[in-house]
Amino acid sequence: MQYYSLNNPNHKVSFQEAVIQGLAPDRGLYFPESITVLPNDFFNQIENYSNQEIAFNCIQPFVGDEIPTEVLKQIIAETLCFDFPVVAVDENIYSLELFHGPTMAFKDVGARFMSRCLAYFNRDKNQTNTVLVATSGDTGGAVASGFLGVKGVDVVILYPSGKVSDIQERQLTTLGQNITALEIDGVFDDCQDMVKKAFLDEDLTYKNLTSANSINIARWLPQMFYFFYAYKALKKLNKPLITSCPSGNFGNICAGIIAKKIGLPLSHFVASTNANDTVPQFLATGKYTAKPSVATISNAMDVGNPSNFVRIQELYNNDLNAFQKDFSSYSFTDDETLEAMKLIHKTSGYVAEPHGAVGYLGLVKEMEKHQDSVGFLLETAHPIKFLDVVEPVLGIQLAVPTQIESVLNKEKVSIKIANYSEFKKFLLQ
Ligand SMILES: *Cc1c(COP(=O)(O)O)cnc(C)c1O
Repeated sequence: MQYYSLNNPNHKVSFQEAVIQGLAPDRGLYFPESITVLPNDFFNQIENYSNQEIAFNCIQPFVGDEIPTEVLKQIIAETLCFDFPVVAVDENIYSLELFHGPTMAFKDVGARFMSRCLAYFNRDKNQTNTVLVATSGDTGGAVASGFLGVKGVDVVILYPSGKVSDIQERQLTTLGQNITALEIDGVFDDCQDMVKKAFLDEDLTYKNLTSANSINIARWLPQMFYFFYAYKALKKLNKPLITSCPSGNFGNICAGIIAKKIGLPLSHFVASTNANDTVPQFLATGKYTAKPSVATISNAMDVGNPSNFVRIQELYNNDLNAFQKDFSSYSFTDDETLEAMKLIHKTSGYVAEPHGAVGYLGLVKEMEKHQDSVGFLLETAHPIKFLDVVEPVLGIQLAVPTQIESVLNKEKVSIKIANYSEFKKFLLQ
């Protein structure tokens, strides 16, 4: 399978090159040259397939012959070593829980898949790739855990000092080995800008820099599996399915749209955002205006210029009308999010963390227009990762899962970085 740069359709590379490069040399995001529709039978029989079999069928056409079948199956088995339960929250509203992996964030899937692809591509080489990742919270931990100990890959994580939760910080600063955490004096956008600048910096070319943000196709594409798992669980209800994704960089929801293109019968997508409302504003006005990010209680979605939005536009051929038929986007304040967390807990006993609660709000709003539908939101992180918000607002104490307990006593190790020149100096060491 070939991938082209969204900045220049004539620039094409293999799956392997796209994964290793992250971004095209012209700074465009890579996009698959074709999308293979799966046979109807696969969807009719989906309950007879295991999660790993579903994943293999979805992703294999995107990989082509660049990873042998047996190796790809092994990578998938190692990636999907946990469950994706669908839990009833309200009448006709379900939560697809994506937080049962090693760092309790949905990004575990993409990080584990990408690291293993990279390890396979580097198997006979003596070279080291340096993976740069800017994180607003959850990506860093998932990437650190997913890449820990992977041969031929050094990981450098940039996170905004004081703007991630205690647990998130521990998850990305306590592992050691091939993982280094840089504590940036700034906000998430500053971290992302430094990463972008490093990719453009010719002095750093020899470092074989790549990205593990959802711009990397191996991080992004496996996220389509989730939507198949929700369908597998909810198909028997026999109603149109609406999904709401709490969205930041819009990688998850864009993977959902790919799932639909492959043939998955999803009727409507809702991108639910916090105060960072660039996309809701675009849908309202037809004009895309990137904004500086605003800090919120759903901090993994504090993104003012969602990097995957160009992929979504490509999927709809930049046709705003076609896009709006399938897709809505709503923004919610922190106060609304807190109220939703309380309401969900009061009516069903379900504990949603802030990102899931934003997803819930968007779903409820959209479902007013589709009375006969069933909806599912993606619950993208375990509530324990946002306990500072969850515990006081719900008046409960959360039990600490074993995955989290294991990082709580480890010591934080980070390097403070104030600006790009310090960052570059670090990379050149
Ligand atoms: C990353 C993240 C999101 C946003 O996902 P995108 O694919 O960037 O839209 C939502 N919730 C949590 C908990 C996250 O970590």
